[in-house]
Amino acid sequence: MTYKAPRGTHDVFGNNALGMSLLEQKARGIFQKHGFEELRTPIFEDAALFMRSIGQTTDIVEKEMYIFEDRKGRKLALRPEGTASLVRAFIEHRMDVLTPAGKFFYVGEMFRYERPQAGRYRQFHQIGAEFFDNSSPAADAEIIVLAQDLLFAIGIDKINVHINSLGCQNCRPLFREALVKDFGFVENLCEDCVRRLEKNPLRLLDCKVDSYKFTAVPQMSDYLCDDCKDNFSLVQSLLKSAGCAYTVDGKLVRGLDYYTRIVFEIRSDAVGSQDALAAGGRYDNLVEELGGKHTPAVGFALGCERVLLAAEKTGFFNSLKKPEKIFVAIADQELFNEAFSFATKTVRKGLKSNKDISVFGPVNNKSLTNQLKFADKIKASKAIVFAKTEFENGKVLVKDMKEKTQIEISINEL
Ligand code: ATP
Ligand code: MG
Repeated sequence: MTYKAPRGTHDVFGNNALGMSLLEQKARGIFQKHGFEELRTPIFEDAALFMRSIGQTTDIVEKEMYIFEDRKGRKLALRPEGTASLVRAFIEHRMDVLTPAGKFFYVGEMFRYERPQAGRYRQFHQIGAEFFDNSSPAADAEIIVLAQDLLFAIGIDKINVHINSLGCQNCRPLFREALVKDFGFVENLCEDCVRRLEKNPLRLLDCKVDSYKFTAVPQMSDYLCDDCKDNFSLVQSLLKSAGCAYTVDGKLVRGLDYYTRIVFEIRSDAVGSQDALAAGGRYDNLVEELGGKHTPAVGFALGCERVLLAAEKTGFFNSLKKPEKIFVAIADQELFNEAFSFATKTVRKGLKSNKDISVFGPVNNKSLTNQLKFADKIKASKAIVFAKTEFENGKVLVKDMKEKTQIEISINEL
């Protein structure tokens, strides 16, 4: 009996693992510069939290959530996204009243029951940030610039930033009405769109099946109230002054219901049809809707797997620096303890000096030839050989595995 990773999940190793941790490392650096602190939430939450925040008629809640009952019959869900959990934590720890101005980031696995394909998985990783208690357009612009800088930091520079404003409680209903009227004229809507038309017409614009049919539908920009219009143009002028190129995209709606005003998506041509690398927007009412004090907020999430797919196309993986590999070998079995002690010391010294090395060996009961064959296999650059005669003189042999040369060096000098 053999086992396979469940459908839609994957093991991360080799270059992908290196890329994933480098992406995380870059993100942490950028978040710190912008004053964001890490907030880790549980991987599962009360299922109702997501239903309430993301919205009952969204794809995520209707068909993509992993819901289960625990042994006490509690209805839990594996988190499909990060914002709902962060807002829950923000309220639970009373940050909405005690320390409202919060800038938080998260890194972790998300779960959605989707049809797996390149760039779309059932378990995937997101890096995201939430900027609480700031209704200034500068917060929207900072979040967009931050997401863009993160992509630049790993060599993805051919990106398109799409932005739109979804308006507010005052102007969105008028747009909604106009949309419903217009969609009524579109023939052969898909099954999902027929249902959405009644419950959540904005979502039709995002339909992966029908959206090409909606070329002439009304645009939100024509319905924005004066405040929302001002807000949208302020965000745009801030983006311009930060040198961030963008496209206003009247059809951008996003898949979660909590958004108000600015939404955005960063796309790359490098990853085929799953081209959205990062996305986000403003959600001024969510904290209040989940029981907290009114706290305007804006955030984004970036899909790590998709970003790494795009990075691969730019040759990013070839530029990953790998540590130098050193293999500690023994020509005489009786030097096994000494060799082991040397290997341990070398690792500790490397740790202290922050040197980029990996130490392998020693192994016992293997001929020197086999040990060196192994060193070749793992692409070690050097083999340090402990041999009796040399060791008695305080020396070891250092073999250059590529040049096939060797020199004697005093152990103290290594
Ligand atoms: P899409 O339209 O591609 O389904 P979405 O609107 O569902 O995206 P968000 O919920 O905004 O995406 O998530 C933010 C980012 O997370 C996406 O831009 C994408 O890079 C990534 N992402 C979303 N779903 C998946 C998935 N199933 N597998 C891998 N990455 C994903
Ligand atoms: Mg989706």
